[in-house]
Amino acid sequence: MIYLNGEFVAYQDAKISAFDRGCLFGDGVYEVIPVYSRRPFRLAEHVTRLEASLAAIGLDNPHPADEWIRLIEAVIAQQTFDDQSVYLHVTRGAAGYRDFPFPQPTQPTVLIFSTELVTPDAAQKAAGVRALSHADFRWLRCDIKSLNLLPTVLMREHARRAGCTEVVLFRDGWLSEGAASNIFVVKDGVVLAPPKSQLMLPGITYDLVLELCVAHGVAHAVRPIAEPEVREADELWMTSSTKEILPIVELDGQAVGAGRPGPLAAQLDTLYQDFKARIMRQ
Ligand code: PLP
Repeated sequence: MIYLNGEFVAYQDAKISAFDRGCLFGDGVYEVIPVYSRRPFRLAEHVTRLEASLAAIGLDNPHPADEWIRLIEAVIAQQTFDDQSVYLHVTRGAAGYRDFPFPQPTQPTVLIFSTELVTPDAAQKAAGVRALSHADFRWLRCDIKSLNLLPTVLMREHARRAGCTEVVLFRDGWLSEGAASNIFVVKDGVVLAPPKSQLMLPGITYDLVLELCVAHGVAHAVRPIAEPEVREADELWMTSSTKEILPIVELDGQAVGAGRPGPLAAQLDTLYQDFKARIMRQ
């Protein structure tokens, strides 16, 4: 079952207008929320980011936070898997014609569904993944979790064809993020992360990694990171709600550090998993 505009319908019965602006223009925003043992993780933070994305594109929020939480919990309850990935999107609806300015009035489309969450297993974490560097040719509002994902599609396909998992994006010589992840760098025992700006998505996992560094006294700095620093890193990680903390061991065919996942990735992953387990027990 999926949730579509106020009702739960079977996948095959879910119908969206061909004029939906999500389909015509990518005119909408989305969230992906991990669910462990049927409990959504960092839900309040995801709802807050959804609210920010909606506000940024001038789309009235169709639901207050408590209603979003109720809807998401209802979708989780319908699914058979215990660990899930909830996908939620809101578009500026369908006007019955194709024109760029906002339709008046606007009737948003709300879609929520959930699939099985598959996070990297121990073997994947131990092996790490390969990545390519790429020019960040996206727009200048990457802080909005927008449905315009063509750059992501093209960049991830480019990575896939090269046997890689992610692309590491640089804009004007500075690290921004991954195609669908945030990127952390480790140098000389210090965890480095680029500062939030309109050029990257404020990742929920990014925030948690930095919170864990603060809470556990892990040396870290949030500052702009130049491309040569990434190429000379001791460790490189990609982070996201579904990939969690995943070490990148090769960039453009060159080993990152020793060419295998480093000690800080392992430490932060342990802290992350412990944090998750503690939250799930509450
Ligand atoms: N950056 C981009 C462009 C993303 O698409 C994502 C997640 O899909 C992230 C960063 C990581 O964000 P989060 O940790 O909230 O999943």
